[in-house]
Amino acid sequence: MKSQELTYPMYINGKQIMLDDSFEVENPATNEVIGRVPNGTATEARRAADAAHEAFKTWSKTSAYERAALLESWHRVIDERLEELAVIMVKEQGKPLAEARGEMQYANSFVKWYAEEAKRIYGESIPASVASKRIMVQKQPVGVVAAITPWNFPAAMITRKVAPALAAGCTVVIKPAEQTPLTALLLAECAEAAGIPAGVINVVTTQNPAEVSDVWMEDSRVKKVTFTGSTPIGKYLMRKAADTVKKVSLELGGLAPFIIAEDADIEAAVKGVIVSKFRNAGQTCICANRIFVHESIKKTFLQAFQQAVESLKVGNGLEDGTEIGPLIDKAAVKKVQAQLQDAVSKGAVIHGESGQNMEKGYFMKPVVLSGVTDEMLCMKEETFGPLAPVTAFNTDEEAIERANDTPFGLAAYVYTSSLKKAVTYSENLDYGIVGVNDSAPSVAQAPFGGMKESGLGREGGHFGLEEFLEVKYISLQV
Ligand code: NAD
Repeated sequence: MKSQELTYPMYINGKQIMLDDSFEVENPATNEVIGRVPNGTATEARRAADAAHEAFKTWSKTSAYERAALLESWHRVIDERLEELAVIMVKEQGKPLAEARGEMQYANSFVKWYAEEAKRIYGESIPASVASKRIMVQKQPVGVVAAITPWNFPAAMITRKVAPALAAGCTVVIKPAEQTPLTALLLAECAEAAGIPAGVINVVTTQNPAEVSDVWMEDSRVKKVTFTGSTPIGKYLMRKAADTVKKVSLELGGLAPFIIAEDADIEAAVKGVIVSKFRNAGQTCICANRIFVHESIKKTFLQAFQQAVESLKVGNGLEDGTEIGPLIDKAAVKKVQAQLQDAVSKGAVIHGESGQNMEKGYFMKPVVLSGVTDEMLCMKEETFGPLAPVTAFNTDEEAIERANDTPFGLAAYVYTSSLKKAVTYSENLDYGIVGVNDSAPSVAQAPFGGMKESGLGREGGHFGLEEFLEVKYISLQV
């Protein structure tokens, strides 16, 4: 097949846009090129912002019921094409098909939830101190929104932003990650099929993210940037947003502690840590990065954990039974290997077979490390891979102090059978999300987001909708 036949267009103002310049999308499991997408420039970024600005004039004035109905329709179309979306996601991102289906359902649950929530954007009426006045508070859409998303959840990171933005009455320009643009383009196609008007959702694909985002960040018509990705890029965008005082939401990196107290149900903790650590091959922002186990149960836990890890099947996400797919690219593998080497050189012990690459693709076997100390790289830097460092602690105070000793504050987990410990841990861990005996806390109706350098703002629930709304106070002299 000629490369031209594999090129997927980007999507601006309801039109499919092709460019002479395009770039490859690679399957991380096979290293095959699965498609090409246009390499957008500042020109396309401007066209997208123009389209979103124009569309905002009418979209922001549609009734909440109309917006809700169109979101419901988008939800239906995504649901009908769920399998197609899941398969394309596996091909460009690598995760196992069952996980990709799960992500599509999770992604679509945001569309559904915000379709319902669009009708509940309430204002307030406040009793005035003067009899002749009436105080009204209204919520209005902030305006054009720029959404910049990562490759690890190619669908959910888009719907988690776009669904509440549209529900609020905003229009969006999206720049998906260069590794996973196909899912984003397909979602936009679904939106068009659902009847969402031209210009309300625009997607610019590019290999030069700063060229596109700089245009949007400097454009005073773009009123908000919502970003999910690494902390350094989040800081860069926040600085850029200052010049036009844009609203900013940032979902950034994590370094999640997974604490297993002395009274924990060990079997449940092992199951929980397997899900948290190895979902998406360890490439989730809320995945267990540092595993703290009480000294008294360390041996039993390590034995059961190692056994469970050994049984995990690594392979191509489209093969039956695969539980761990490849990492996203060579750089990701190198980063995890560097952390592994650093830990071993400082005295950590590898349990079982160490991580090896397969012939093709960016595979890495899951690795359990014990004897880990807080000075090792894997305890200080986000791993984003299937490396599970285990360290022991003696008191709850020690576990909390060490867990909090990081600039990150996204998600933390604690396994315990004591209500008192559950309360103490959850109240004292400086994290935006705390899972108590729960290793998969993300749902559409709850606020997702981080403290400290893990971000600003929340996605999900009514909190996620507020991020796209302005508060207007109207004082009526009657
Ligand atoms: P990344 O920051 O490299 O890329 C994220 C997005 O930013 C991509 O679309 C990329 O093209 C774009 N980008 C890169 N450089 C840019 C620039 N100079 N200007 C504008 N945009 C730019 O992150 P990544 O490697 O794709 O994703 C992994 C990171 O995302 C991890 O740190 C992870 O923890 C984080 N993440 C956070 C959450 C959350 O909800 N907190 C969710 C998923 C991922």
